[in-house]
Amino acid sequence: MNIDLHCHSNVSDGALAPAAVARRAARAGVAVWALTDHDQLDGLAEARAAALEQGMQFVDGVEISVTWRGSTVHVLGLRIDPGNASLAAGLASVRGGRVERARAMARDLSKAGIEGAFEGAMERAENPAMVSRTHFARYLADVGAVADMSDAFRRFLVPGKPGYVPHEWAVLADAVQWIRAAGGQAVLAHPGRYGLSAGAMDALLLEFQAAGGEAIEVVTGSHSPEQFRHFAALAVHYDFSVSRGSDFHGPDEGAEFGTLPPLDPALRPVWREWGL
Ligand code: AMP
Ligand code: MN
Ligand code: MN
Ligand code: MN
Repeated sequence: MNIDLHCHSNVSDGALAPAAVARRAARAGVAVWALTDHDQLDGLAEARAAALEQGMQFVDGVEISVTWRGSTVHVLGLRIDPGNASLAAGLASVRGGRVERARAMARDLSKAGIEGAFEGAMERAENPAMVSRTHFARYLADVGAVADMSDAFRRFLVPGKPGYVPHEWAVLADAVQWIRAAGGQAVLAHPGRYGLSAGAMDALLLEFQAAGGEAIEVVTGSHSPEQFRHFAALAVHYDFSVSRGSDFHGPDEGAEFGTLPPLDPALRPVWREWGL
């Protein structure tokens, strides 16, 4: 069964509306699907309706931005109750400050000779309060300042490069707590993306587990096949369940639905108790 538990709509930094993302997932053969917008639940009702229309099982999700020891890490909440007040209040606290950060990013980019980035990013954000580095990357690609979006994230927008402005996101244990309060399961997203040393990764996994985190993403569009194996081994070592998701953001923007390999059947999937 094709299960995809990570992707984005234009409610956060995806390119398509929730219903369009649902149709694309269904067309690619996804049978169980979660929408996991960054720090936002506003797309879930539309996504659920479209998913059911397409014959998919739907999972309410979210991807929470966290600052851990100065690094940004992402925690997925799966099967959350979108009506839960603690989760809503927590997410509202994380969402603040994106527009001010975008202004600072644009000022920094202008010092590097890139003009109009604030307006360019805001025009591309369906939801201006959720303006993100992805919208800046789309602008940089559209005006030809970079070859494509991954080039944008190599030359700009990352620590040490023009356009990077650090931001204080949620505290790790708080994010896990909001997810659990809403009846969901907390999954550490794409651990291979963080560039952590082996020692720091061990510390992150232990802290995440102590906070109530249950699973880590193993098969994701952000991991190489070698990282599928590496994080599968870490999941076994620390007794985490494992998850799988494309992290689809838009057509021709990297990961696509229906293209990733299945999880190793020897691992314990996060959906084991879901009665699928
Ligand atoms: P922000 O929350 O504004 O810091 O933006 C983070 C988003 O940027 C992530 O959710 C990804 O969608 C995107 N992103 C970060 N790094 C990369 C990368 N190397 N390639 C493509 N997209 C990236
Ligand atoms: Mn994103
Ligand atoms: Mn992420
Ligand atoms: Mn994501």
